[in-house]
Amino acid sequence: MQKNGSVSPNAPMPLAEARQRIVADLSPVTDLETVALAEARHRVLAQDIVASVNVPSATNSSMDGYALCPGNDETRREYVQVGQSLAGHPFGQALEAGQCVRITTGAVVPEGADRVVIQENVVTQGDTVTIAAADDLPGVEANIRPAGEDIAKQDTIFQAGRYVRAPDIALMASIGHAHVKVLRRLRVAFFSTGDELRPIDGPLAVGEIYDSNRYGLAAMIADLGLEGVDLGAVGDDPAALAQAFDKARDCDVLITSGGVSVGDADHVLDVLKTRGTIDFWKVAIKPGKPLAVGTIGNTRFFGLPGNPVSTAVTFIQLVRPALVALAGGQPAPALRFELPTTQALSKRAGREHYLRACIEPGPNGLCVTPVGHQGSGVMRSMSQANAFVVLKAETEHVDPDALVAVEPFAQSVWQ
Ligand code: AMP
Ligand code: MG
Repeated sequence: MQKNGSVSPNAPMPLAEARQRIVADLSPVTDLETVALAEARHRVLAQDIVASVNVPSATNSSMDGYALCPGNDETRREYVQVGQSLAGHPFGQALEAGQCVRITTGAVVPEGADRVVIQENVVTQGDTVTIAAADDLPGVEANIRPAGEDIAKQDTIFQAGRYVRAPDIALMASIGHAHVKVLRRLRVAFFSTGDELRPIDGPLAVGEIYDSNRYGLAAMIADLGLEGVDLGAVGDDPAALAQAFDKARDCDVLITSGGVSVGDADHVLDVLKTRGTIDFWKVAIKPGKPLAVGTIGNTRFFGLPGNPVSTAVTFIQLVRPALVALAGGQPAPALRFELPTTQALSKRAGREHYLRACIEPGPNGLCVTPVGHQGSGVMRSMSQANAFVVLKAETEHVDPDALVAVEPFAQSVWQ
């Protein structure tokens, strides 16, 4: 039912435009803190990271074998072993022509040696090492990792704004970077709305449902490495909603689920108008059309629809890039490619559709199949899916085997 005059019925905005509009107009966090490297995963760097050492720090062997000093004789096959260089225990002297040392992976290549022959290709007798076949003669630099091959001293390995992932932690550890300056974590408050919502650890009366969205939102916020602030479930009551809005004042973002449409029990927009401003309302996607974006003081507001799949889809497609930008990172453009659909698809023209689907191997390579029931309350198909099939607003029908746009769930959302 439409409530008279509560909200102007503006036309739904295309998703791409909504995304641009949000990201163009926001102030990312700027406060910094210093954390131990082990705590830096999923944080945003607030400093450039410059290497103070070479990696590797010394020229070393990539194989177990013998480091050779052939001198001027490139075809020399017989060497005298004068010692060994083990990882952590360098040989420490220069080699002369015709000499070699036993060497292990990662051990320093002694001065004078310019190649390593792998141990499978030699025969040893006493301290004589013979390369078994002429074909096995290593060329210059063979099996050698030069100092600074990975990172040279003074290289800038990361710039401020980098979202730190597991390999980045290893890379920073490899240059002995024990502490890093990062931006403070974005504080993201959230609450769900609806008189029918009940806590998940109690019984349900007729017409009541468990408050699942709040758990989904908490998990998606935590997945990004942001600080979630759970403000609980709030009834369809303007006074209670106003109180909950006020609790989010010291947070950077407030996300709500439910009550954002124009039914009699939908008060979120009206309360938002008393506390802040609505930037826009309704985005032309399915699931997820009723959706409000606004501002309350210094807090960005996202009012998401209550149907669980709509909550998840609008979070992923619209809120997530905004959170990345607000947290001081760069949202990565969605990884999208085309695959043949195994089934015919139909829809009404007007909105872009995000279908839950699975990318699977087919007889002629990868293909995509919509999974389960596509209703916007059906979370099971969202959980089974590994990708969205994205159908353009104007599309009405797609034949089996035709190419459709696919966005896999597993992709980086931070650049
Ligand atoms: P609404 O957006 O408030 O009109 O809600 C749309 C549908 O989503 C209704 O069927 C609600 O019962 C359901 N819903 C709303 N909030 C939640 C929630 N937190 N968890 C699960 N379902 C919800
Ligand atoms: Mg509701």
